[in-house]
Parts: sequence; C-alpha cells; structure tokens
Amino acid sequence: MVRQLVFDEPRPARPPRHLADLDAAGRASAIAELGLPAYRAKQLAQQYYGRLIADPRQMTDLPAAVRERVAEAMFPTLLTAAADVACDAGQTRKTLWRATDGTTVESVLMRYPQRNTVCISSQAGCGMACPFCATGQGGLRRNLSTAEILEQVRAGAAALRDDFGSGQRLSNVVFMGMGEPLANYARVLAAVQRIIAPPPHGFGISARSVTVSTVGLVPAIRTLADERLGVTLALSLHAPDDELRDTLVPVNTRWKVGEALAAARYYAETTGRRVSVEYALIRGVNDQAWRADLLGKRLHRALGPLVHVNLIPLNPTPGSAWDASPKPVEREFVRRVRSQGVSCTVRDTRGREISAACGQLAAAGGPAT
Ligand code: SF4
Repeated sequence: MVRQLVFDEPRPARPPRHLADLDAAGRASAIAELGLPAYRAKQLAQQYYGRLIADPRQMTDLPAAVRERVAEAMFPTLLTAAADVACDAGQTRKTLWRATDGTTVESVLMRYPQRNTVCISSQAGCGMACPFCATGQGGLRRNLSTAEILEQVRAGAAALRDDFGSGQRLSNVVFMGMGEPLANYARVLAAVQRIIAPPPHGFGISARSVTVSTVGLVPAIRTLADERLGVTLALSLHAPDDELRDTLVPVNTRWKVGEALAAARYYAETTGRRVSVEYALIRGVNDQAWRADLLGKRLHRALGPLVHVNLIPLNPTPGSAWDASPKPVEREFVRRVRSQGVSCTVRDTRGREISAACGQLAAAGGPAT
C-alpha cells in the first residue's frame, strides 16, 4: 500500500532568525533595529559569507561592546554537531546536526581530486515516502529554514578550509540529503540564491556547481526554471513506466512520468542546462533490459541531448529486502540506455559504510550503522 504523501509540515517550527535568513534589505533593517550604523550590515554579511564566520565574538572588526548583542540578535546557534563520522580514508564525512528544537538532520562532505562537494538536507525527514529510502520511512518532521540550510554549507566550507589544510575550497553543493527540496520551495530558493551570489550577499559558488534534486514536483520545476538561476536540476526518476514508478516514487500518482519529463524539458530549454536523471538500480525491480530500452527511448524523445542519466547502485537500508543490481546487469543497463543516444554513467557512491550515501540519511537520533 502506498503511504500518504505529505506536502505540508505537520508541525511548523520557527527557528530563531539568523543573518542568513535575511536578504540585503532585511539585514539593513535588522542592523537599524540594533541601532548600529548601516555599513555594519555589509560587514557582517562579509564575515559570514566571505570569511565563513558565524560567531560575532570572532569578528575583530566589530566593536567588542556590540558583539554580544549582535550574536544574540542575528547569529543564534541553529545547528550543533551531534556526531561526525568519516570514511573513505577521511575523504567523506557525515555530520549529524541537532537543531534548536532537537530535530536532527545530516549533511555529508565529500572530497574528490578535482572538487569538494557538500550534500545538504532541506527538510527534517521527508514526506515523499519513497519505499527504498531510509529518510522516507520516518515521514516529514519539518522544513528547514533558509539559514539552517545555509549553515550546512558554511560549516562544510569552513571544515574544508580549517580541517583539511589551506587552499581547500567548497566547489559544489547538492541538495540530495534529507527531504524533497522543492517541497520547501521558498526557503530552498532563497538558500540557492545566497549560495551562488558573490560575497557579501552569498558564498559565491558557481550556479553550474549547485544541484537541486526533486522527485518530480512538476509545478515547482517549472517555477524554478523561470527563476533562471542556472543551477542543475536532478530528477529522481527510478522507473520509466508509471506502473512501477507509482510504487517506487509515490508522488508519481500525482504527476506521471510524462509530466515530469515535460517539466524537465521545460527546465532544460528555459535554462540551457542539461538535466540529470537519477535512477537507483534495484535488483529485479527496475533493472530489466526492457526498462533500460524504455528509459533510453523516453528520455531521448523528451530531452534529446539535454539529459544525462546517473545510475545509482542501490544502497542498502536497514531492514530492506531490496538490493543493488549485479554488475553485469548494471553494465547491460548502461549499454542499452546509451544505445538510445542518451548519455549514461554509474555514479560513484561515497560513504556507504557510514550510511551517508543516497537514501541512507535517516538521522534517527544518531548516525545509522
Ligand atoms: S528518496 Fe528523496 S524524496 Fe524520496 S523519500 Fe527519500 S529523501 Fe524523500
């Protein structure tokens, strides 16, 4: 039986206001409320986005007398690291964060030779109920605020700079942690805008290096396209036919494969960006040769060269009977998709042994094992 989809928060919570929740006008009025000169707004934003400092007590260009007041009013501690687990010889690190209301979320930092990526959460839990995903099993707890999302980015960037030696910069941000980003649209949009804006208005990460994933919330995909931010859209498809996708990705009962692909095409045409299609390959479930052919055909028809398929060997989740497809099946699947003229690769899955890979972020009070 398909579990009910949850689009609205069951228990809306309001984390305290933080500088990262505010745009330039909001920062200016917050500074005015504190009775500080207007130029302090830019100075604080420069410290936060440019120097990755979130504690005014460390801001030496701020008069000591006002640091405490600024800290209280604009820099509450939103996320506290409750646990850190590393694997891949220290190249992958998962952090379990505890928010002010006790809610837990996770982010994962991954170092590669040519890039450094942080995978962040946009919601605590998820209401999309995909049965193969650990996060989906716990349901939606609440949306994260813009600042809670951005704090994961800042912490990742600061960890790269401070813990891994000089010269390490955060280059990529992927919204593929807990939650359906487009179900928390306004806060995610504001977060993306501040990730790509240059300091002092944002972290200055290239829009091309930011990926927003979705299970296919069709109206929100079109709205995001119209923002013309230039970020990469990743559509988690997981099946090319409605019959199977209705069960693997329950939102498909609302927006069918054809509608999701039409929205992806609109995104690609509007932004000029190639769309990523994510496909978790599950043994005996969605890895048949005919499904590979159908996937290739449908994608070629809908998106032509404006699509790339990422096959993701399914990550085991506790208690699940589902498993990754055998390698020969995986190779044949890739071959068949490519033979339809669609580019397709198997994604390197980092962090399996610390339950940090896709579909494993459960945050059930501590790192999953
Ligand atoms: S796969 Fe993504 S959208 Fe589906 S339940 Fe998991 S976190 Fe939510």
